[in-house]
Amino acid sequence: MPIQLYDTMSRTTRTLSPGAPEKPFGMYCCGPTVYGPAHIGNFRTFLLQDVLRRTLEVDGISVRHVRNITDVDDKTIRRSQEEGKTLADFTAAWTKKFHDDCAALNMLPPQVEPSAVEHIPLQIAMIEKLVARGNAYVAPDGSVYFKVSSDPEYGKLARLDRDALRTQATNSAGDANAADEYTRDNVSDFALWKARKPEDGPNFWQSPWGEGRPGWHIECSAMSTHYLGETFDLHGGGVDLCFPHHENEIAQAECSCGHHGTFARHWFHSAHLMVDGAKMSKSLGNLYTLADLENKGFSPMAVRYALISGHYRSQLNFTIKSLEDATAALEKIEKGARKLLEKAGITPEEFSQEISVHEKNTAWGAFEPAWLALCEDLNIPGAIGKIFSAFGELNKAELSKADAGTQLCGLAKILSALGLKLFTAKKDEAASDVPAEIAALGEQRWSAKQAKNWAEADRLRNELAALGWKSLDRKDGYTLEKI
Ligand code: AMP
Ligand code: ZN
Repeated sequence: MPIQLYDTMSRTTRTLSPGAPEKPFGMYCCGPTVYGPAHIGNFRTFLLQDVLRRTLEVDGISVRHVRNITDVDDKTIRRSQEEGKTLADFTAAWTKKFHDDCAALNMLPPQVEPSAVEHIPLQIAMIEKLVARGNAYVAPDGSVYFKVSSDPEYGKLARLDRDALRTQATNSAGDANAADEYTRDNVSDFALWKARKPEDGPNFWQSPWGEGRPGWHIECSAMSTHYLGETFDLHGGGVDLCFPHHENEIAQAECSCGHHGTFARHWFHSAHLMVDGAKMSKSLGNLYTLADLENKGFSPMAVRYALISGHYRSQLNFTIKSLEDATAALEKIEKGARKLLEKAGITPEEFSQEISVHEKNTAWGAFEPAWLALCEDLNIPGAIGKIFSAFGELNKAELSKADAGTQLCGLAKILSALGLKLFTAKKDEAASDVPAEIAALGEQRWSAKQAKNWAEADRLRNELAALGWKSLDRKDGYTLEKI
């Protein structure tokens, strides 16, 4: 069955296939801004992209996955300065942390992971084309802005009202917007190149318009088309990126090459993760990183399961209870798998869930409905439900050793598409080595520290020490260890 996916541009569900059959399926995803640890909302989006890529690959489609690293913007510059580090050292450390988390969550590394800083000339070249074509203008301070009114198709992804835009969008630098973000109510010319400011410190580059640095949106247009071609198959990101970021990416890419409708063939946006029914934010104290959840004793695989288990087009409400449920669900899948393994005479250690190319053509067996759910607009919750139904059916069936082996192939394929690894219990045991009482004290102490309640944090540190435990604090979380 061909893979169907909702496309934000056409607002329809369409079949996914490579536009150029001789080339791999080109997929560009907006990557992290590396100024701190990625939170679980970011990871929901990256994990859904990972499941999409895996699904295509299990279907036999080869994928070229490009995901950028935003390593220069207002936030990375400001935070690196606050910490007295060079921008390069600062972003390298957070990029490494991001990669470690991705690996723990069993995400496939993209084939190309271009960094904005390493592609400044490419971005300058695209801006030069836009200036030459009359789609951009240079402001008196040496900043360059995209002229929204010069693009007759601007607003097509977010479906902005073009008539309103014509009167609103400016062609003078006076109303142009130097900030990277704005809302659809105040659409404005946006920065392609930002002239050097004192607060940028040593973080500036030479350009035809003087010293400065690129605006945020240009890196994705320049790097996606550089690595995937003027037209590529799919572009993805969280729903917040739809406007203005993706709208601006389209405008930059299509105006710089001179023809419209050439950029991404399909737009994949995933709905946001909410926490306890609210938007995640530091001030609400509901912003979790992977480290936070591991410190609570949950395995990265349970985190993966919880973050992918809602439909990508609906907001997902994350709770600690959902992680407990995820842990139980994974155990249930392991139980079902174990029964099949016993019948097939294979040990859990021998059962590889990452399938190899030759296994892609094997039968789905009882797991076919799960696969079909995945093919229908990436219905992950549907697929998971069908995995449980398959185990129910297989439990009742009389299976020969060969039958069990065939069913295991189907199971391995669906697990590979979802990126779920079974029997990673060693990690779980290590995580749950921390007794619940100690974990609770550790959590209270961390919360006190976050709230700058130093006296309470010290008191809890002493209490932990009296019980023989210490907390190793990092910037993004902590680990509890026996003294
Ligand atoms: P950033 O590092 O802020 O550029 O974001 C990286 C990715 O995470 C982008 O695709 C965002 O759209 C996505 N994202 C940010 N917040 C959330 C959230 N709460 N839920 C899901 N995705 C998110
Ligand atoms: Zn982007």
